[in-house]
Amino acid sequence: MKHKTIIEPFKIKSVEPILMSTEQERIEYMKKAHNNPFLLDSDQIIIDFLTDSGTSAMSVEQWAGVMRGDESYAGSKSWKAMEKAVKNLTGMDYILPTHQGRAAERIIYGYLGGKGKTFISNTHFDTTRANIEYSGAEAIDIPIEESYHSSLIHPFKGNLDTHQLKALIRQKGAENIGAVILTVTNNSGGGQPVSMENTREVSKICKENNVLFLLDCCRIAENAYFIKHREAGFENKTYKAIAQEMFSLVDGAAMSSKKDALVNMGGFLSLRDKKIAQECTNRLIITEGFATYGGLSGRDMEALAIGLKEVFEPDYLHYRIKSTTYLGEKLHKMGIPVIMPIGGHAVYVDAKKLYTHIPPHQYPGQALVCELYIKGGIRTVEIGSVMFGKYDEKGELIPAPMELVRLAIPRRVYTQSHMEYVVETFEEILKTKETVKGYAITEEPEFLRHFTAKFEKL
Ligand SMILES: *Cc1c(COP(=O)(O)O)cnc(C)c1O
Repeated sequence: MKHKTIIEPFKIKSVEPILMSTEQERIEYMKKAHNNPFLLDSDQIIIDFLTDSGTSAMSVEQWAGVMRGDESYAGSKSWKAMEKAVKNLTGMDYILPTHQGRAAERIIYGYLGGKGKTFISNTHFDTTRANIEYSGAEAIDIPIEESYHSSLIHPFKGNLDTHQLKALIRQKGAENIGAVILTVTNNSGGGQPVSMENTREVSKICKENNVLFLLDCCRIAENAYFIKHREAGFENKTYKAIAQEMFSLVDGAAMSSKKDALVNMGGFLSLRDKKIAQECTNRLIITEGFATYGGLSGRDMEALAIGLKEVFEPDYLHYRIKSTTYLGEKLHKMGIPVIMPIGGHAVYVDAKKLYTHIPPHQYPGQALVCELYIKGGIRTVEIGSVMFGKYDEKGELIPAPMELVRLAIPRRVYTQSHMEYVVETFEEILKTKETVKGYAITEEPEFLRHFTAKFEKL
C-alpha cells in the first residue's frame, strides 16, 4: 500500500523539553522583551521558527563523530574527513574550512571586491551583500521578474535574469565584475529554487566574458530536490548527482554548513583556481585559523562531513520538503496569504495582505510576529520594513517592498503535530485579525536594527 502520510524518517533518541506557557505569561514575557522576539529567552518559546540556521538536530552518526573528533592543530583526521566530503561533492581541488558562512564570504569577497567592482546575483543574502559592500564594491540583485509576484506560480522563481546579466556585464565592463553569485535556494527571495538550465546559461555567459562564477550553496540539497521533481531530464538522477552537476558549472562556492550540512556550526570555501585559493588561504590563516581547521573544532568538522552525506538521503529530503510544503499549503488553503509556491526551508506570510488595516509605517509584519508569539508561543522573524526600512531626510519611513514574516523550519527538529499546532494558531490569527494593532519603534540602533530595536503597541 502507498501511504498518504509522510512520516518523519527518524526516531527520537534524546529529547529536549519544551516549557509550556500560558497566553498571560507570554504577554508578560513579551512586555519585558519590548515586543521584539529576538529579546526573548529560548525557554520562553514553544515553537522556534526564528531561523533554520544552526538549529538542526544531529543524527546518532554525527554524535558518534563528535566523540571521534580529532582536535590536532594540523592535519587532523576530522579535517581529512571534511575535506574529502566537500571535494567529493564540489569536485574542486581547494577546500578552506571556516567557522560559518560569513567568514567564507569575508575571505573571498574581501579578496575579489574593492572599490569599482560589481557583484551580480539572483539575490545577495544580507551577510553576502554586507561583506561585498564593506570591501567598497557594489552588489546588484537581478532575480527574474516572476520572483517579485508573491502569489504567482513558477517552478524556479530563484532564477537569475540572464538578459539583465548580459546587459550589466556590457555596461560595467567584464573586467570590473568581481563575480556572479547564484544563491541556491534563494533565501532572501522566499527560499525559491534555481534551475539547472538557468545555472548552465549563467555559466556560459560568465565563461564567454571571462567572469568568475560562484555558488552560495547553503541549501544545495534542497535545491537539488526541486530540480529532480520539477525539471525535465533529472527524474532519474540522484540528488547528489544533481548537486555535483551544478558544482561542475561554477568556479567556486561558499557554504554556511549551518543549513544543509545539518550541523550547528561550520562553513567552507571551495575553489578551482590555485592562485585564488592561495590568496584566500593567507587570509584564512590571519583571521580564522590554520588551513586544516579554519575556525572549527575537530568534532565540528567530523559532524559536518557526516551531515553533508546525510542531507542527500532521499527519505530525508522528501520529508524535509514535504513537511515545509504541508505547513505552507495548509495556511494557503485557510486563506493566509503566503508566498507561492512554498519554498524549501521556510514559509513566508505576506503580512501586508493579512493586515490590510495596518500601514507599513506601523509595521504589519511585526504585529503578526507578536501575535504568533502571544497566541501560540511561536517565534518568527519580520522581513519587511523593520528589517529593511530606511528613513528619508525628513525622518519619514521609506518602507521595504514587502512586509513578510518568515517561518523558518529547523531540520529534523519538529514533528507533524507541532505543525498542526502552528496551523491551529493561525486559525485564531485569522479570526482576530481585525482587532490587531500596529507598532511604533521606541528605540533603535543605527545598523541591523531588527535585532535589538524596542517596540510599543499602538
Ligand atoms: C546563512 C546564510 C549565509 C551566511 O551564513 P552564516 O553561517 O550565517 O554566517 C550566507 N548565504 C545564505 C544564502 C545564507 O542562508
